[in-house]
Amino acid sequence: MKTLCLLFLILCVSCEQKDSNWIDRTKHEGLFKINATDKFETYSTQKKPQHIEKTIINIELAKIYFDKIFDEDLRFAVLFIDNKNWNTYAFAPPPGMPQAYYEGNMVLGLGKSIMAQRHEESLKNASTTELDSLKKYYGSEIDLDLFFRDALSIHELGHLYQSFRTGRNSQRKWLDELFGNLCQVAAIKNFKDQSTYHRMDAYQEYVIRSNPWGEIKFTTLDQFEKDYFEIFNQGRNYGWYQTKFYSKAKKLYALHGDNILVMFRDFQIKINAENTEKIDDKKLYNMMLNKFGLETMKILEWNYDS
Ligand SMILES: [Zn+2]
Repeated sequence: MKTLCLLFLILCVSCEQKDSNWIDRTKHEGLFKINATDKFETYSTQKKPQHIEKTIINIELAKIYFDKIFDEDLRFAVLFIDNKNWNTYAFAPPPGMPQAYYEGNMVLGLGKSIMAQRHEESLKNASTTELDSLKKYYGSEIDLDLFFRDALSIHELGHLYQSFRTGRNSQRKWLDELFGNLCQVAAIKNFKDQSTYHRMDAYQEYVIRSNPWGEIKFTTLDQFEKDYFEIFNQGRNYGWYQTKFYSKAKKLYALHGDNILVMFRDFQIKINAENTEKIDDKKLYNMMLNKFGLETMKILEWNYDS
């Protein structure tokens, strides 16, 4: 009995260590530690970062939701980085494009981000009807940091809940991104205050309708795997893929509810388990069909192969 207790104690200590130790603290060098919440760690390039309250509340609410459905108490850190310091702390421009590292850190914009400015600029081409559909939820001054920081931070948090269990392993980037979108849609839909959901959805649907991409180079899931970093760096083409994942995530969540997130993450953990070789497309399809059923596979059908 004593041995068992000791074993249990050792196991617990190692879980605890994994929880807090997985955060890569080298990413915090030179940042101010701020006391914005006691639910997760927060750092910033500014001593007193302004206008982050709503982002913090959203991430707190999403943490409660994800902890509950995934049965975790995830430790992580949120870095609020202004435009001029962006390249020091984030792995890709432009400033304000939310991103997550594999080891417990997410990077968000601070102040008026370049990302939001660019997208606000392109709203100059929008019709009055389209602008009105956005103003309904954003107010007369459309501030797209409310989209990129307040809403997309939840997508990044979803990635952390996956990478906490899978590490850097990834069978398919498109599955990771679909999962990020699923997390974003599900958590935000569960907020009691639906203002973030309305803003997120109004802007995403506007982008889908306005089809602002023009000629894009990559459209297939195969290319998304092989040319991921080129696509990522060409924000436009990446945005195109993300809107497709977003629409599919909405349909999947409407069909399955919270259950799909748990099933999906379990599946990701299974296929990304240490030493698992690359699974070929056919086998992967069959594994997914077994796990999720035909209706889900119909939603996931990719009709953009050219
Ligand atoms: Zn993502």
